[in-house]
Amino acid sequence: MIKPNEQINSSNEKDIEEILDLMVSYRPEDIKLINDAYNFAKIAHIEHKRMSGEPYLVHLAGTAKNLAQMRADPQTIAAGLLHDTLEDTETAPEIIEKQFGTDILFLVQGVTKLGKIKYQGIERHAESLRKLFIATAKDIRVILIKLADRLHNIRTLQYVKPEKRRRIALETIDIYAPVANRLGMGQMKGALEDAAFPYAYPEEFEATKKIRQVKNEEVLRNLEDIQRVLWKRFAKENLISFKTDFRVKHVYSLHKKLQRHNMDIERIHDIAALRIIVPTIEDCYRVLGIIHNTWRPLPGTLKDYIAVPKINGYQSIHTVIFTGNGGIVEIQIRTTKMHDEAEFGIASHLAYDELGKPDAGGLLGKKLRWLNQLIEWQKNVKGSREFLENIQTDFFVDQIFVFTPKGDVIELPQGSTPIDFAFMIHSDLGNHVAGAKINGKFMSLDTILKNGDIVEIQSRDNNKPSQKWLEYAKTSMARRRIKASILEQEETKKKIQRIK
Ligand code: MN
Repeated sequence: MIKPNEQINSSNEKDIEEILDLMVSYRPEDIKLINDAYNFAKIAHIEHKRMSGEPYLVHLAGTAKNLAQMRADPQTIAAGLLHDTLEDTETAPEIIEKQFGTDILFLVQGVTKLGKIKYQGIERHAESLRKLFIATAKDIRVILIKLADRLHNIRTLQYVKPEKRRRIALETIDIYAPVANRLGMGQMKGALEDAAFPYAYPEEFEATKKIRQVKNEEVLRNLEDIQRVLWKRFAKENLISFKTDFRVKHVYSLHKKLQRHNMDIERIHDIAALRIIVPTIEDCYRVLGIIHNTWRPLPGTLKDYIAVPKINGYQSIHTVIFTGNGGIVEIQIRTTKMHDEAEFGIASHLAYDELGKPDAGGLLGKKLRWLNQLIEWQKNVKGSREFLENIQTDFFVDQIFVFTPKGDVIELPQGSTPIDFAFMIHSDLGNHVAGAKINGKFMSLDTILKNGDIVEIQSRDNNKPSQKWLEYAKTSMARRRIKASILEQEETKKKIQRIK
């Protein structure tokens, strides 16, 4: 209710309305919570401006809108509005707790950086990141707020001092986008990368944009033709319930793919793709049948991520077909549920009232396993620089998936060897590696593993890690265990000599 003599700030009204519009819930208590948090933030940051000269509230509303868009729950959105109160204003934690409860206070504290006085420079940065991951393991919604915050910041990077821009852009690409990817948040990952790309690698950005412009038109024209034919075929087959749209590949992701293919755009078939969304899995395979019956598929390109999902949970069928007029296009088929999951990832699992604690639901737990692992492994890492380097090599470089002889999937960073594989399974196995079979053949221990390899480790009790293994091991966990073992071997040797 608006009191008659109350001054209405129309941009404030509009902000709140936009947030509520994007939200899934219309419960009165949720609407009140958003209003309260908005007004609280407005007063707390009243004297505070963004680099752009706008009121600071613009950033908070932007963060909240990003959260609402990724289907976060009302508490998370409220925490998004409040996320900078502890760091940038005089607000005491007790006040937030009293007004908004312990959960929202936890979320706000989770994204608050460590004190400026106690920590400095890279140390503060790395330790804040470590703290962020630990808070995230307790409540996944912490990272959602951080990602929403970062997305707004990266989209307004033009106002930041030039010397800071590149650092923030690189960090977004190296750490935050991969986190979003690990959580299955495709839309967020793409948005973060594309906003950071021009600042991180300006020349590559311009080049990629140009290449895309030229090719895009042709591909979209082909896709439109295909779509028209398909609609007719669907009608004939009595397949009525479906949606189609075009998805254009994100610029940064296109750049990465171009790099992998010698910058040859003709080898990339998914610069844009036709997406078909149907209600059930059965429908997906029916659609695939209709497509392969109408156009010839390009051999070796069919990917069934429905039967075998990607490790981050992604599911869809991808197929590449010859259009018949010299073109080649990609078609992606998925259910509505798979579509939501691919776009919003973990956020799409955070149902209302069922708060996003990691123990809520098996799938959520599985997705968070890597996060807990990360925290577990990093407990032993003392230095801040080392922490930053380790998370980049172990968690955020491209991953490959290899199999144990029993068919269990093991995820490893690209460039890993059988030594890394052994330590990933168990330190006891790692510490006694004698040999490795890859796809049934004995291979040397420095062989680089490839996606889909089946790896079998042979062990012998009196085999021990040697200096050479350090050159083979790629993961920081394996390297740390090897170093520890070498140290231990040296200590024992010394002791034996002393006895002699
Ligand atoms: Mn912020």
